[in-house]
Amino acid sequence: MFEIFEENESVVRSYCRKFPTVFTHAKNAILTDRAGKEYIDFFAGAGAINLGHNNPYVKKAITDYLAEDRIIHALDMYTEAKEEFLNTMRDSVLSPRNLTFKVMCCGSTGTNAVEAALKLCRKVKGRENVFAFFGAFHGMTIGSLSMTGDRFSRKGAGLPLTNVTFIPYYNTFDNPNTSLDYLESVLKDDHCGIDKPAAIFLETVQAEGGINVAPIDWLKRLRKICDDNDILMVVDDIQVGVGRTGTFFSFERADIVPDMVVLSKSISGFGLPMSLLLMKPEYDAFKPAEHNGTFRGNQLAFVGSKAGMEYFVREDLGKQAREKGKIIADKVKSEILPLDERLKFRGIGMIAGIDFSGIDSKLALEVCHKCFDHGLVIELAGREDCVLKILPPLTVEEEVLNKGIDIILSSVKEVLNLN
Ligand code: PLP
Repeated sequence: MFEIFEENESVVRSYCRKFPTVFTHAKNAILTDRAGKEYIDFFAGAGAINLGHNNPYVKKAITDYLAEDRIIHALDMYTEAKEEFLNTMRDSVLSPRNLTFKVMCCGSTGTNAVEAALKLCRKVKGRENVFAFFGAFHGMTIGSLSMTGDRFSRKGAGLPLTNVTFIPYYNTFDNPNTSLDYLESVLKDDHCGIDKPAAIFLETVQAEGGINVAPIDWLKRLRKICDDNDILMVVDDIQVGVGRTGTFFSFERADIVPDMVVLSKSISGFGLPMSLLLMKPEYDAFKPAEHNGTFRGNQLAFVGSKAGMEYFVREDLGKQAREKGKIIADKVKSEILPLDERLKFRGIGMIAGIDFSGIDSKLALEVCHKCFDHGLVIELAGREDCVLKILPPLTVEEEVLNKGIDIILSSVKEVLNLN
């Protein structure tokens, strides 16, 4: 059934091992396989499908563009598609939030924007070191991997990953302030052996790290530490941006403005390859072509992104994420957590996790398999993959959302032998 993949495709493939079927169609939060079986999608392309599969509004913009033989590949030349994308980004997303970021179009995937940000921070501050947090995930190329915490992924680099210092995240110690006390002591102590960084890279909500939601006070204090010490703050909103946490950018809830932001995944509105680096104008310091690439500017992604931002505003997807996020949190807390007091819930907006580490981390994978058998695609996150990660499209219908959580409930019951 999977011969061509198993014999001809590299063993590096991963998600297909948890979700072993051949998918053919997708509509909003439903995936369909070759046999016609339907699956509810609580994975949403790892956060690339916030607006739902084949979102009709975005799809129309893209198919109209294609039908008219408009330009598809243009490197970073000026095109109408990019012009309209930039106008919409400014008028619908940045200006309403009083953000004056300049937009740098990077390569096709998230890690390309992270690499660009790394280079730019080092260039701007003239320092090699950067700080990242325990549990961070920023991508799989050498620069971004050097800021990614998990040892398995890091080993794949095949060389030492350098010039990054990891700092405890808010959840490393019982008291969130301890991590920032440590950070401050490192920055203050000129005999601590750690070089001053150009930047601190941060996920305000760690997704791959296990759904860790940084407290607002903690984020504000971190912003101040960066200001006081002449360090750039870079927010990686690749997975939790574009409405996922209940606002377009994840940092809005803390009322802070980072110096740079990296975006990808759902920013194209349609699951197309696109990544962006947003930076305060004073840090727009690359010389022309100093950072370059053939696929910076996929015109279909520009068209999708423009339509996606329009749709986001029209449908108030931030509000939808907050409301549906409440459904998730209420239902998980009232129906699933009581099954075993050692289960833990964490989440914000429409990113949520059920942590099995209090019982046995391996159970999360068993639940993930059971869910798939019962028609739900859902992924894991965190140390030892101990967290079941709930990440539906923001556009999921409430009925489908409830049905998906019911599948988790019955799968957890089966795995805990509670039937
Ligand atoms: N940063 C974060 C927070 C991510 O979640 C990811 C991917 O999951 C990346 C960076 C890397 O993005 P990509 O896989 O598109 O390179």
